[in-house]
Amino acid sequence: MNPKNSTASSLVVFCDFDGTIAQNDIGDALFRHFGVFEPYHSQLLAGEITVREYYQTAIASAQDFTPETIKHFTKNFSIDAYFPKFYQFCLQKNIQLTILSDGFIEYIHPMLEAVGVTDANVRSNYLSVQNSGVQPIFPGASESCKCFCASCKRNTMLSSSATDSVFIYIGDGLSDTCAASHADIIFAKHKLAAFCNERRIPHYPFHTFFDILRIMEKIVDSPRTKIRRQAELQRKKSIEIE
Ligand SMILES: [Mg+2]
Ligand SMILES: [Zn+2]
Repeated sequence: MNPKNSTASSLVVFCDFDGTIAQNDIGDALFRHFGVFEPYHSQLLAGEITVREYYQTAIASAQDFTPETIKHFTKNFSIDAYFPKFYQFCLQKNIQLTILSDGFIEYIHPMLEAVGVTDANVRSNYLSVQNSGVQPIFPGASESCKCFCASCKRNTMLSSSATDSVFIYIGDGLSDTCAASHADIIFAKHKLAAFCNERRIPHYPFHTFFDILRIMEKIVDSPRTKIRRQAELQRKKSIEIE
């Protein structure tokens, strides 16, 4: 057995969408556009409502909020120019890549398709459109985790990979902090980088997927990729709770 291959196949990558793959936070822009961003977003940041309540309240008051109008709206935004290359890199190296978003599939899919990424594994919330109105559905909702998510990214991450995998997390925001704490290798910017700095969690700062690709090439070629002890303990603990 080629030891290099065995290392590469045990790497699993989890990646946020808004502000990470998409250059902007599309969820925020979307609710701004549909006129339902405030006062809900301020209430959310003040801790007065949960992410779940934020989505439910904002969506209940949005007009003409359908998969079609959302898709049309995404044409104003772009994906990190190096993400398609990173996506191909993971395919070639046989690295499992999962896009973990607490946003909605209704804008994620059209944006990925626009750059030729048509078969990505995406785990996110989605909208249920009925005659009575539009309802957000949170498939990863967790009773046991109090993270800043409607669908817990940590639980989805831990349930979709072998426990002895080397977990890699890429993200930028508050919805990423919980999952990233459980990852061995972290790529972080903005609020996630600040969170890691505060808690002295080692991470690679990045601006674009160009930076991530450069480091990932080295990680894949390294004969021994390391598990982060603290992350491994966190994973064990969280799996026991669930
Ligand atoms: Mg984000
Ligand atoms: Zn969580």
